[in-house]
Amino acid sequence: MVDVATRRALPITVAGVSKAYGAQQVLDQVDLEVRSGEFLTLLGPSGSGKTTLLMALAGFVQPDAGDLRFGERSMVLEPAHKRGIGMVFQSYALFPHMTVGENIGYPLRLRKHSKPEIRARVAEALELVRLPGVAERRVSQLSGGQRQRVALARAIVFEPAILLMDEPLSALDKQLREQMQREIRQLHDRLGVTTVYVTHDQREALTLSDRVAVMNQGRIEQVAGAFQIYQRPATRFVADFIGESHFLPLQRRDGGFCLAGRPLVLPPDQDVPSGESAWLMLRPENLMVDAAPDLGRNRLEGVVTDSVFQGESSRLYVRLDDGLEVSLRLGPAQIRELGLGQGQRVTLSLHAEDTVLLPREDGDGR
Ligand code: ADP
Ligand code: MG
Repeated sequence: MVDVATRRALPITVAGVSKAYGAQQVLDQVDLEVRSGEFLTLLGPSGSGKTTLLMALAGFVQPDAGDLRFGERSMVLEPAHKRGIGMVFQSYALFPHMTVGENIGYPLRLRKHSKPEIRARVAEALELVRLPGVAERRVSQLSGGQRQRVALARAIVFEPAILLMDEPLSALDKQLREQMQREIRQLHDRLGVTTVYVTHDQREALTLSDRVAVMNQGRIEQVAGAFQIYQRPATRFVADFIGESHFLPLQRRDGGFCLAGRPLVLPPDQDVPSGESAWLMLRPENLMVDAAPDLGRNRLEGVVTDSVFQGESSRLYVRLDDGLEVSLRLGPAQIRELGLGQGQRVTLSLHAEDTVLLPREDGDGR
């Protein structure tokens, strides 16, 4: 048995990495530090450059500019097969004509390990991905989830210092995906391997990661922990992409930002944008109806336009006095009790902790 604690992990540095295909700038001066042993996820919409950045780390895409370092060592001129990286892709990319054991042992055969050692390490890797005793089976006899476990076993069997995964669970159904998410995280914690994981699924990113890097059009908009990304998004793009949100334009008056004539109360760690106008971001789950007046809360007045029964919750639509329509989720009993029907005037409130101001470019007419 190999002592997993001896597996070394390496930090990754991405410094000013750019890549263009024709006129399209796919990576635009990307800077990123992945800490040794960290689980970092690249999250972004399709086409934002996630796979290209991962492929640059792996050595399958040559950057036009910038540097990539594993530890102290620059990888830019290092061919892919010498980078010592474990990789898992969306499509399993297993060899269909080989057994499970032959697939997993492949990286060890390339590295000229002895047969008995390969057998032992394949068995160990299969244990790690909770698939013991299937080394002799054909890949075609396995389910989708099992195949992805085999791909994972093959990626870690040679004890890489860095593990890269590109949407490895996107072909699986929801239940299996959630189970595999937990297993991937547990595996990471046992191995301590520096992991860069790619997904376009925000929940998956928030669940799995130590930190999330949100990508948009070849740039990284924010790198932070799940709570920070969700509760303190740095840009409107991040706020829009993750979770549900409404945006209320605010104008600066007498030096500050006001809501319905009252100065906005903000959490102490919130930066106030410097421009003449800003976005107030509202998450539906943070809006409350008719909370008692309280200095720690911002208040918004409006009229109920609709309420829609959705099973365990109902969605209440409210047109605020300045015209923006927001929605919030309430229990059906709450709506009944508060007598919230169409045309009813309501006061909504938002706790200072949940109040987020985002920069708004001048002329940003959204
Ligand atoms: P993501 O993984 O975030 O969906 P990709 O990194 O795959 O994004 O792609 C980013 C953009 O780069 C896309 O618009 C894609 O069409 C383009 N692109 C990626 N690879 C190539 C290539 N080899 N040639 C031309 N365009 C490419
Ligand atoms: Mg991709």
